[in-house]
Amino acid sequence: MNVTQQAPITSLWDDAAAATMSEPELLLYRSNLLGSDLRITNFGGGNTSAKVMMADPLSGEQVEVLWVKGSGGDLGSIKLDGFSTLYMSKLNELKGRYRGLALEDEMVAYLPHCTFNLNPRAASIDTPLHAYIDRKHVDHMHPDSLIAIAACASSKALTQKIFEGELGWLPWQRPGYDLGLKLEEVSKANPALKGIILEGHGLFTWGDTAKSCYETTLAIIKRAEEWIAANSKQPAFGGQAIEALPAEQRAALAAKLMPLLRGKISRDEFKLGDFNDNATVLEFVCSRDLKPLAALGTSCPDHFLRTKIRPFVVEFDPLNPDFDKLVASLDQALEDYRADYRAYYDRCKRDNSPAVRDANPIIYLIPGVGMLSFAKDKATARIAGEFYVNAINVMRGANGVDTYVGLPEQEAFDIEYWLLEEAKLQRMPKPKSLAGRIALVTGGAGGIGQAVARQLLQEGACVMLTDIDPEALAQAKKDLTKAAGKDSVESIVANITSEEEVENILAATSLRFGGIDLLISNAGIASSAPLEDTTLEIWQRNQDILVKGYFLAGRAAFRIMKQQKLGGSMVFVASKNGLVASAGASAYCTAKAAEIHLARCIALEGAPHGIRVNVVNPDAVIRGSRIWDGKWKQERAQSNKIEADDVEAFYRDRSMLKLSVLPEDIAEAVYFLASSKSAKSTGNILNVDAGNAAAFTR
Ligand SMILES: [Zn+2]
Repeated sequence: MNVTQQAPITSLWDDAAAATMSEPELLLYRSNLLGSDLRITNFGGGNTSAKVMMADPLSGEQVEVLWVKGSGGDLGSIKLDGFSTLYMSKLNELKGRYRGLALEDEMVAYLPHCTFNLNPRAASIDTPLHAYIDRKHVDHMHPDSLIAIAACASSKALTQKIFEGELGWLPWQRPGYDLGLKLEEVSKANPALKGIILEGHGLFTWGDTAKSCYETTLAIIKRAEEWIAANSKQPAFGGQAIEALPAEQRAALAAKLMPLLRGKISRDEFKLGDFNDNATVLEFVCSRDLKPLAALGTSCPDHFLRTKIRPFVVEFDPLNPDFDKLVASLDQALEDYRADYRAYYDRCKRDNSPAVRDANPIIYLIPGVGMLSFAKDKATARIAGEFYVNAINVMRGANGVDTYVGLPEQEAFDIEYWLLEEAKLQRMPKPKSLAGRIALVTGGAGGIGQAVARQLLQEGACVMLTDIDPEALAQAKKDLTKAAGKDSVESIVANITSEEEVENILAATSLRFGGIDLLISNAGIASSAPLEDTTLEIWQRNQDILVKGYFLAGRAAFRIMKQQKLGGSMVFVASKNGLVASAGASAYCTAKAAEIHLARCIALEGAPHGIRVNVVNPDAVIRGSRIWDGKWKQERAQSNKIEADDVEAFYRDRSMLKLSVLPEDIAEAVYFLASSKSAKSTGNILNVDAGNAAAFTR
């Protein structure tokens, strides 16, 4: 049912590999296989279980233990410690405690009492669903194709028609203890069933062995996909209404729009963006039924918890593209969306509901262009977009064979503002100091650039690295991705002395993350020559990189920061030599002085917009430096009449504090000036040089 051609779902089970596995390992193996294909279950969605006989740690007797995916995590990457383990005997005793549907939430607090072997992994809300199904191995998946059937107006009749009695069906009910008892009833009364469809939610399947359970799950999903494909009305979504813009224009428009939009929705919390224009998204945003279908909202709880029920449809006509008109319409349209969301909250809230949450949209659909998604961090934004792709697939499937129906509003609200969900949110760790911030680091492949990037990432920022050296940049990106994850790091090879390339860097940063908050201008060179031997070429090279390059990056970042209206911080990495004249380095010293003064000028113009600009002056950061690797080191050694190997010791001993200055020391200072720790400082210079009296500022 996907518009993109994909290989059919096939079993990846390897009997030889499975032969040596214990039951828990088989459960893990099956879970990883299922979670590796997003058509089988969405990211973080679904869970698996096995009932296993194990020795009780106290009595040594064999007891039945439920292994079930615990709270949090994703099946594709889960490890054994991601499963919670519970005594089946105790889970069965719980039935005596149950006081009815209205009080089912209180059962959650009993689950820890059923823990087997002191396993610290918290049991998920779906635990009773797995426990009470009267089968050894149980899968609960959220495949788009099955949710499509579950979201049809005539879901029950379709289930019967497609699966000819092999699957049961239960009407919509919020997952919880009571649904577990209902699943028990159906699975016990119908021994021939292979699984159950839950209306508006997803699929349960089961088997006597891990392998048969896995293969049943796959077979059911395949059957649903094939049936929908063979029986769908064409074309989907009422057919194509408009032609998508060419890829380059789509990306350019998104890059221009994202900082503007981000500024409007980040007043209370900085948001990060994601752009998605895959074939599924384009088919939907170019279709006749875009607006009415978007208004219906997503149906599966897993989807709308990530995407909000309704997306925001941006007013844009790709046949008469008018960016200014689009921007002009945004404020009112966003205000309408927020008012609508608050009205939904007021209509549905209960006496004990948590306070209304951020009312801004998460998903933005732009006709002819694609989809933007914004959330508090990059991974959440990306995943929200992927969930909306799931929702599009569900709408295509359901409307292709029947009529798609969203979840009743009150039911959706009760899930979104469920006290148990709220408790989960409250348990989340406090955001880091640079959470939601986007940093651009020039000279990102060098020692200081990488140390700065590493520190900003550790503090929660996303980082775009740029450098002129492709190999070094690729390696830096690889190393930083390893430390911080793929969502937070991106790189672009560019020459910061080219106006066009600098514009490209900023556009790429906006497109990848949504805008820019922190510019760390750090690209550098150094040269050394007596005045008479300083060629115009040496002079110009210093001016190009250290002055023109800083001007171009500063100007481009300034424009976007001003548009975003979220303030911003620029840190220029200059040098002691910008303050202290040094013999034999006039081209370098002069350029560094200009760089420092440029920072002050931008600080002056930036202040009314909350844009701060400060300077860090390193001195003699030799370790990890690509500047100090080559000729410069030789030149400085010669000019100081020492051996190249003694350069570090020479500078250390020359400093007042007798310390070597390391890239990490510079990173610490950059972080201070980039973060709100220095919120009231602009136009300043911070020397990080282990003490040099000549460089004292005055
Ligand atoms: Zn589910």
